[in-house]
Amino acid sequence: MCGIVGYIGKGVAQEVLLDGLRRLEYRGYDSAGVAFHEGHQFFMARETGRVGNLAQSIQRKCSSASLGIAHTRWATHGPVTVSNTHPHVSYDGKFIIVHNGVIENFFSLKRFLSQKKIEFTSETDSEVLCNLIAYNYSILQSDGDGFIESVRMALSKCSGAYGIAVICLDYPNTLIGARRGSPLVVGLGEDANFIASDASAFVGRAKDAVFLKDGELAILTGTDFRITTSEGQEAQAVTQPVDQISEEVDLGDFDSFMEKEIFEQPLALRNTLRGRFGDDGTTAKLGGLEGHQDELRNLDRIIFIACGTARHACMVGEYLIERLARVPVEVEHASEFRYRNSPNVGNSLVIAVSQSGETLDTLEAVREAKTKGLLTLGITNVVGSTLARETDGGVYQRVGPEIGVASTKAFSSQACLCAMLGLALGRMRDLSPVDGRSIVDALNGLPNLVSEVLQQGEQIRELAMKYANAEHLLFLGRQSLYPVALEGALKLKEISYAHAEGYPAAELKHGPIALINTECPSVFMVEGTELSAKTIANMQEVKARKGPVIAIVPQSVEIPEGSADDVFRLPDAHEVVRPILANLPLQLFAYHFARLRGLDVDKPRNLAKSVTVE
Ligand code: GLU
Repeated sequence: MCGIVGYIGKGVAQEVLLDGLRRLEYRGYDSAGVAFHEGHQFFMARETGRVGNLAQSIQRKCSSASLGIAHTRWATHGPVTVSNTHPHVSYDGKFIIVHNGVIENFFSLKRFLSQKKIEFTSETDSEVLCNLIAYNYSILQSDGDGFIESVRMALSKCSGAYGIAVICLDYPNTLIGARRGSPLVVGLGEDANFIASDASAFVGRAKDAVFLKDGELAILTGTDFRITTSEGQEAQAVTQPVDQISEEVDLGDFDSFMEKEIFEQPLALRNTLRGRFGDDGTTAKLGGLEGHQDELRNLDRIIFIACGTARHACMVGEYLIERLARVPVEVEHASEFRYRNSPNVGNSLVIAVSQSGETLDTLEAVREAKTKGLLTLGITNVVGSTLARETDGGVYQRVGPEIGVASTKAFSSQACLCAMLGLALGRMRDLSPVDGRSIVDALNGLPNLVSEVLQQGEQIRELAMKYANAEHLLFLGRQSLYPVALEGALKLKEISYAHAEGYPAAELKHGPIALINTECPSVFMVEGTELSAKTIANMQEVKARKGPVIAIVPQSVEIPEGSADDVFRLPDAHEVVRPILANLPLQLFAYHFARLRGLDVDKPRNLAKSVTVE
């Protein structure tokens, strides 16, 4: 979580940093702050709330400052107050730091520093690190490298995760960045260098980027840079052109990124699918998996690891892959996998899925899987992300930046890639060319079907208006529509703060049916398979108890009179694309429901886009 930007160069730091913070705000928006090195002092401004509040509060321009750091916070230690807002200044006034992550041993470090009579002005773990750097500086015999050495010494005493940018009053020409666990990338421009938790902060300003590896430090001046290991040895810097890393994002005619990204899905899916089918048109060809053909052919099981929405996409994958490829699949919460003692049997493949590629729980689970000697593949949207770099192979989603905190287009593309993976694995086993071809056709037809469903958005808005007062909702579906039910409930919770639960439809009678009354709507997704009649029976059980029912149903499935209050029709489609189509009305429902409540769907309470703390 959180956004870090640092700038050193010939330009005006204030402009660059505020602009960078705006671009990173989706990473955390509890509070924001900025600090500049100006002459022989620091200038600092901090505000709770949005970056806009900070920009307004900076009355005077720091036009002379060309070194500075900035931060948008997602609070972990200490409430959202100005004193807990980053940057944090050291007790002696010499160092300023911005930090992303959690210093897990902050309490013992704080006790140590308190014994040295060092006082603290915030409740954050980050200020502890800043004061530790200052304390090290005070005890080191400075020989010119005192700044770097103090940072390195302090970091060696920290456990947990960090991405930091730090400046020192005694070093007007140096900006230091370091990372472990949390992402940090260096941007190289002409007469200016940058550091940021995400390259989008300096797109259009830097030419090249260097992704720091875990444990590395970057030492920047306005014209030069070097990377060292945590022990201080020079490290190799691999540069990548920035224009290949991320694109600039703008809202266009939409009023929120969530709405924009929902309607981008036809295009996003076309990009996910483009060029990824074999020449004979019966299988999927995923470049990142080439080189692992033998392992994929001899798989005994797949373990998906992911969090949140990505995990729901994996659960869709579980149903599809087991059906198409007959390989046993498990889906794990990344945070649980990491600490679980699961037996390592047979040839297991771990597939980690994360839109940002920086979800710390997922990365740590990948590292654990590698320790156990398992083959790891990644599905991620962000080129060059830590997940992309640390897995043995993988596939990019290619859906363009997803800024809305509530994931929409990323889910669709992840579910689509799972279907493609199922197809590829199936064709390596016993899936026939005829079945393969019909799946390829279904996937190729998906973007048009998505457009068709989105065109009926007005009907969903009317449904959201009808049920806008509901405080409890149930989402229900069977088989691959069960994870869609989970995802529909999650989306609604995330952005509207209404309470929603997703269940397998048949599970209703084993407990949740007790919640049914006239105030608790149930949203059913009907499969369009031999199971439809059973789901319709579940709808009738709800109606018999006076619960309102919304049914999302393929065109050809008949809904008996009296079994639903509202029916939304989906096009008839192949089973591999059905979950993606069924999820679209749920995305729109959550969006309209939250908007009708006057909420900011792009910045829901307490959330941030990529979760880089455990
Ligand atoms: N742990 C730090 C804090 O609570 C940093 C949180 C963040 O990554 O924004 O201030």
